[in-house]
Amino acid sequence: MLTQAPKGTQDMLPKDAHRWQSVEANMRRICALAGYREIRTPMFEHTELFQRGVGDATDVVQKEMYTFCDKGNRSITLKPEGTAGVVRALIESHMYADALPAKLYYVSCPCFRYEKPQSGRLRQFHQNGVEVFGAKDPSVDAEIIDIARQLLDAFGIAGARLKINSIGCPTCRKAYLDKLRAYLEPKLGGLCKTCQERFSRNPLRILDCKEDAEKLADAPSMLDNLCPECAAHFEKLRAYLDAMGIAYAIDPRIVRGLDYYTRTVFEYVIDAPGGELTVCGGGRYDGLVEELGGPATPGIGFGMGVERVLMAQDLCGAAPKTPEMYDVFVVTMGDEARMEGVRLVRELRAAGLKADLDHAARSMKAQFKYANKLGVRRVIVLAGDELAKGVVKLRDMQNSEETEVARGEIVARLAARD
Ligand code: ATP
Ligand code: MG
Repeated sequence: MLTQAPKGTQDMLPKDAHRWQSVEANMRRICALAGYREIRTPMFEHTELFQRGVGDATDVVQKEMYTFCDKGNRSITLKPEGTAGVVRALIESHMYADALPAKLYYVSCPCFRYEKPQSGRLRQFHQNGVEVFGAKDPSVDAEIIDIARQLLDAFGIAGARLKINSIGCPTCRKAYLDKLRAYLEPKLGGLCKTCQERFSRNPLRILDCKEDAEKLADAPSMLDNLCPECAAHFEKLRAYLDAMGIAYAIDPRIVRGLDYYTRTVFEYVIDAPGGELTVCGGGRYDGLVEELGGPATPGIGFGMGVERVLMAQDLCGAAPKTPEMYDVFVVTMGDEARMEGVRLVRELRAAGLKADLDHAARSMKAQFKYANKLGVRRVIVLAGDELAKGVVKLRDMQNSEETEVARGEIVARLAARD
């Protein structure tokens, strides 16, 4: 127990750190180019925020939340997703009163869901995401879809497929849900248990069911029942995506199933051994800010699971190469050389080179062996005789060639990466 991480959690080990860092760096770069600014919100919030913000009827709130009572007897929940906290912060800081749209992003936000751990499903995972407030035009829907596309391309998972749908607004959806219920009711006995549970509280989610997909192939589609405004919004989104050259498929089964989700919903999926894997999911939530006590403000966002991105990279053979740990390693012989070595390493690092020397009192031979093990390509050898002459040896570890370089020139020479 003591030496085993809790079920559904993962360590991010140093051997994979470059992968996380690269995902985060791409997120920051691509978001900044489009004028998005970073936001970080607490890891826990009042439970009520998620009950209202994610929705009482969702699986997340019904079954998956990490909720506990703190010492002040408040009900606290570890955040299961990124949006609700961001909306709370928008309202609390009055950001909605600044110049809109407010374009925000978050990086490696820890999320907690009490799910059955399995491939691609963790209890602590991390999301990169964006949220935009105060923009109604579908150009912003297209913009965030494009940001996700650019990210996936940068991650080497260009094969991820985009699926889009519109789930309308509360008005046209209400009429549609009546039609959907009337269609589902006679079939209910033949559907899976989850679908039966969802029938009264969240019928839209039944369309999402993998098990019953075939039985419901002829279900009425929200797209055929959109009001003129929602239909125009969807048409315009498609036109923007076409103009941007972004390929998509319309999938009427992509639903988010919350009252305040409105209009655009989308997912990026890849093929995985167990079926399709959703790497990114997003949508418009024009009713959410108001629902949480702020002024009516349209919103839209997506969440992209970092662990799923890494999984997708592995599946596509797109995992980035491990970067070299050091540009140069300093091997020393004798106490005097070691003192000089400590100085030299400091100079090398100051010049922007990744450098180190032995810290384990190894023999010279063992220092070379260690440098080899680390895959270091260049070694500087400091030994008494040469030092007295004011030179060091620069050794190429691939072909074992050695050249003498003046001690005073070695740093500049390596910094110039000749
Ligand atoms: P799924 O259909 O896979 O359960 P979801 O609809 O619950 O996903 P969202 O709430 O839209 O997921 O979360 C956004 C993204 O976060 C997902 O697309 C996925 O990449 C990631 N994600 C969600 N749940 C988990 C989890 N338990 N473990 C790892 N990643 C997750
Ligand atoms: Mg889920």
